[in-house]
Amino acid sequence: LTERLQNAMKKLRGKGKISEADLRETMREIRLALLEADVNFTVVRNFVKTVQDRAKGADVLEGLNPSQQIIKIVDEELTKMMGEEAVPLNKAPKIPTIIMMSGLQGAGKTTTAGKLALKLKDEQNARPLLVADDVYRPAAIDQLQTVGEQIDVPVFQLGTDVDPVEIAKRGVAHAIENHNDYVIIDTAGRLQIDEALMGELKNIESEVKPNEILLVIDSMTGQNAVATAEGFNDALDITGVVLTKLDGDTRGGAALSIRAVTDRPIKFVGQGEKMTDLDVFYPDRMASRILGMGDMLSLIEKTQKDYDEKKAQELTEKIQENSFDFNDFLDQISQIQKMGPLEDIMKMIPGMANNPALQNVNMDPKDMEHIKAIVYSMTEQEREDPDVLNPSRRRRIAAGSGRPIQEVNRMIKQFNQMKKMMNQVSKGNMSGMENMMNA
Ligand code: GDP
Ligand code: MG
Repeated sequence: LTERLQNAMKKLRGKGKISEADLRETMREIRLALLEADVNFTVVRNFVKTVQDRAKGADVLEGLNPSQQIIKIVDEELTKMMGEEAVPLNKAPKIPTIIMMSGLQGAGKTTTAGKLALKLKDEQNARPLLVADDVYRPAAIDQLQTVGEQIDVPVFQLGTDVDPVEIAKRGVAHAIENHNDYVIIDTAGRLQIDEALMGELKNIESEVKPNEILLVIDSMTGQNAVATAEGFNDALDITGVVLTKLDGDTRGGAALSIRAVTDRPIKFVGQGEKMTDLDVFYPDRMASRILGMGDMLSLIEKTQKDYDEKKAQELTEKIQENSFDFNDFLDQISQIQKMGPLEDIMKMIPGMANNPALQNVNMDPKDMEHIKAIVYSMTEQEREDPDVLNPSRRRRIAAGSGRPIQEVNRMIKQFNQMKKMMNQVSKGNMSGMENMMNA
């Protein structure tokens, strides 16, 4: 996945301009890359459409060249597809928090149960209890016990002759007695989803009411991972997914499809066999990893930041020279539209919050478009030298922009006030001004 996407992006890298054909070609490559990586077909189709619409649409980011923009859009949409933000474990209002592991045989339930116990112990000073609820293979209990010893976490077990629902219940009771704050129930899996397994898991679910039902999915299983996730999700009230074996030679498609298909967050990823190899899942990091463009993405971020800073610097200089004109004003409006209401920004300047002049600089974001229209109707000379704006010129501008003359007058007045105010502020408090511009 990564390689194909990277190649598609590399082709774009050198280009300053992107034609329709380039975009089509890139989208085709992205589509193939995702399909090859076993990403679900519907997910791919929606993804490609979203990226294409954004790339074509008004979503133009200043300071970036077109190929950088597409990379940024792809990265953002990949992140979105995987859920945007890391989602933490659910917690019971009262201890113990009950976590139930579920998933097919070999997915990594037992290993992940141990990893999670260790994580909770290390990071929260928690006292977890592991419950051996896989009664079908004697070796399963031994395995969990070995894990427990390794990480020094107690394991509750009743052998293989007791009903799993009973074991789960008594395990929770044991935890309450011993003041364990987490109970992690390691259940049995099957090679495939079957009624008997689902029935058993459902019974455990309704009996102990887990706060968290983690579905453990082997990321190496490609399209099957999605089918498995759907199957479990239909039967159980899954609250989160753990993707295991991401350290291996996985094509990564599972990470992309599962969220979209199940609408359940991926909470953790297993990246190795060691007990410490469990990480919180961060959609943005995964997106960059899949895209394999960490360096490019940092460059994009920096380019944008530098661009904004350069603009801010230029503006500060203009204000100091009192040569702030309507062209700067237009730039400024674009910046402000990105940043938030002007009033808020002005208030960040020390001494500005209570300045009466601020009351007059009333710039509702809804008015911004009108203001732009007015400035667009000015000639270059008028923009650079607002002093030439006599009544007849103002009437012409009003007609050209389709705004009432009063509004044009008011806008020019506000502009002059703002210019004056900025000049005062810049003389009195340069650092304040810079803070504002870099905000
Ligand atoms: P269960 O049947 O679902 O309980 O699966 P196990 O926990 O017994 O794990 C099955 C195999 O997968 C074991 O050999 C584990 O060491 C291995 N395994 C589990 N998680 C990971 C992982 O994140 N990375 C790697 N490389 N191996 C894993
Ligand atoms: Mg197991």
